[in-house]
Amino acid sequence: MRRVPLLFIVLVLGVVLWGVAGAKDVEVRVLLLRTGDEVRLSSPSGLEVRVKQRVFVASPGRILHFSPREGAVLWREKNLTGTTFVVLPRGEFVFLGNRPYRGRLELRERGRQLEVINVLPLEEYLKGTVKLEASPSWPEEALKAYLVVARTYALRNLGRHREEGFDFCATVHCIRYGGVFAEDPRTNALVEKTRGIIVTYQGKPASVVFHSESGGYTDSAKNVWGKDVPYLVEVPSPWEKDAPHAFWQVVVSREEITEALRRRGYIRGEVLDLECRKSERSGRVVSVVVRTDREEVELSANRFREALGVDRLPSTFFDLLREPTAAQPQKEVPLQDPEGERFIDYRAWMEKDWNLDDIITFLKLREEERKRKRGARGVFPSPNTRSQSHHVQQTPDAFTFVGRGWGHGVGLSQWGAVGMAREGASFPEILRHYFPGCELGRMVVR
Ligand SMILES: [Zn+2]
Repeated sequence: MRRVPLLFIVLVLGVVLWGVAGAKDVEVRVLLLRTGDEVRLSSPSGLEVRVKQRVFVASPGRILHFSPREGAVLWREKNLTGTTFVVLPRGEFVFLGNRPYRGRLELRERGRQLEVINVLPLEEYLKGTVKLEASPSWPEEALKAYLVVARTYALRNLGRHREEGFDFCATVHCIRYGGVFAEDPRTNALVEKTRGIIVTYQGKPASVVFHSESGGYTDSAKNVWGKDVPYLVEVPSPWEKDAPHAFWQVVVSREEITEALRRRGYIRGEVLDLECRKSERSGRVVSVVVRTDREEVELSANRFREALGVDRLPSTFFDLLREPTAAQPQKEVPLQDPEGERFIDYRAWMEKDWNLDDIITFLKLREEERKRKRGARGVFPSPNTRSQSHHVQQTPDAFTFVGRGWGHGVGLSQWGAVGMAREGASFPEILRHYFPGCELGRMVVR
């Protein structure tokens, strides 16, 4: 009988309790730096240095120097070596060079390199990601949505670099982290406001991810990573018109694509042609068929993107536009040609402040352009017409990718959250939209 009221409360509040050591007790270890050089540590409030069960105190403002030395760390001022030094501020921050950090720093040597690891509570860690992964100028609800997702991600992925002796790196591989420099007083307050709140699925922390911009529709974990996750599915995200990469265009030479795919061992021959296979629901590319002089290979769009470089191809929401070959030079394409036929000026389109109608017009124009090109010059012949044709299609020198969005496209779209918040959505509404079937829960202090 005693269970009934509790069950009732849980159901009514829709809050799922998930027991961990407790929000206050969860510490994360973040690799800040790996260097062969000397590092400088200091603190305006003084430092405490622990090594081999000995404790030293450094006065405020005093700079301490550490460097890697023959399988250990050397503290220059004391001419003392040790496998691990722990450095704690006597006040709030410890400075590594001129950058302040909360928590403590651990120094150790690995492979002739000095490693600096920042150890601090999870909530403090989140504060130091905001300026790198979001923007303090975003609406409050979008920032809260980000913080809840980042907290959940960190909790689920603790020990991501366990074999290397820390939890997270400070780069885009995990979450970008910059310590106190990446904090903002306003977002620090939001970390406190959302303290301990996480995204849950069936009572457990959800395996959430986020990206910058979806381009109008998110992608599924299945399409991108081949892993079916019930709440990482394609959802519309029509709120991204203010996003910085609403449209992009990238030209990649055939040679570069050939080299990139060969390097990963995906192909052996030379790329002749590419074809996109798309999701019917979202229009995002699911796979790319690569035809070479030796083989035909179908790669997931994500693999294709990663092979080319995630910075080179900003997302998997793209279409292919063949660059004119050298034999058919064609420069700026006006929106309207002298005969009244419509062309697309991609640059103008990218600079445009677009809405949903614009996208539809854009897609129509593009379809018209493709049809026209197909008819007039056979730029997009089907494999059949090509083999029957006496006129052999010239292989393009480069491929033009016209796309939308930024990042892998799975889970929370940050710019989608910004748009939703501007229209008045709360952070639980935002999170339920991007993670359908998920609820909010709380890390519990035991
Ligand atoms: Zn990492």
